[in-house]
Amino acid sequence: MRIVVLAGGIGGARFLRGLKSAAPAAEITVIGNTGDDIHLFGLKVCPDLDTVMYTLGGGINEDQGWGRAGESFTVKEELAAYGVGPTWFGLGDRDFATHIVRTQMLAAGYPLSAVTEALCDRWQPGVRLLPMSDDRVETHIAVTENGERRVVHFQEYWVRLRASLDAEAVVPVGADQAKPAPGVLEALAAADVILLPPSNPVVSIGTILAVPGIREAVAGAAAPVVGLSPIVGGAPVRGMADKVLAAVGVESTAAAVARHYGADLLDGWLVDTADADAVAEVEAGGIACRAVPLMMTGTEATAAMAREALSLAEAAR
Ligand code: GDP
Ligand code: CA
Repeated sequence: MRIVVLAGGIGGARFLRGLKSAAPAAEITVIGNTGDDIHLFGLKVCPDLDTVMYTLGGGINEDQGWGRAGESFTVKEELAAYGVGPTWFGLGDRDFATHIVRTQMLAAGYPLSAVTEALCDRWQPGVRLLPMSDDRVETHIAVTENGERRVVHFQEYWVRLRASLDAEAVVPVGADQAKPAPGVLEALAAADVILLPPSNPVVSIGTILAVPGIREAVAGAAAPVVGLSPIVGGAPVRGMADKVLAAVGVESTAAAVARHYGADLLDGWLVDTADADAVAEVEAGGIACRAVPLMMTGTEATAAMAREALSLAEAAR
């Protein structure tokens, strides 16, 4: 079975761990969000791709959900001693090596997709990890800070401002000019199932779908498309999905996120048992829906979610 998953960072990576356990024989292709990418200290940092790679490769800081296990911060401290920032972005020494290798390969002319493949040679994530695009895309967020309207990089909004200000607009800069990375459209066309994990529907999956051709390829694929709600009981499980959903005029409910993706895209939608009331509403909108436990408390619970998604896909076929 060929499964294609569109994934952000932590939510996507944890879901993928459950999916691998639920479908060990499946050939899994991950289309990763690169809208969170940022240039820091002259280095290209790809937080979502790395979170997937480290999580599936056994190198993740499990408590944090991002960054390397056993990390130290000597380089960051030395940079700060020179007065070189930003200090708000936590790059550890081990993580720095990844970004150095990536930046060096990009400078040598390799596209991000080839660089990602090379990095995965070390980590062996057990999935084929593709960036959504080899072209530069950076999500920016419009905010009003101290009475002044400005636009900040997504990482600045999330990490420095801790999403404390309202997101007034979400702009995936460069997305409209980007092309899907090699293999992305082919994987979608050849898929038996396409899954949207509990990732941020705006700044993770929304950004992937904003690359011209990708939304069309997902919606037009022969494979059933099933998503899992990142909103449980009217709130995101973690993170700031509510802020960025508000920015695009979508309520933070499991049913509203399904409607936002649309019946043209989704064949099936899983909501948490806490949102069982939403099932009828989602189905009335033309999307098959089931309420099942959706809390990724461990690999077994997450594998059960993946089995439910595959079962709904089978029913929706
Ligand atoms: P990020 O890049 O680290 O933000 O990760 P994602 O883009 O994958 O988004 C995380 C999303 O997943 C957030 O909207 C969370 O609400 C959601 N999420 C995180 N953990 C869980 C969980 O255990 N269950 C469900 N249903 N959603 C979750
Ligand atoms: Ca992310």
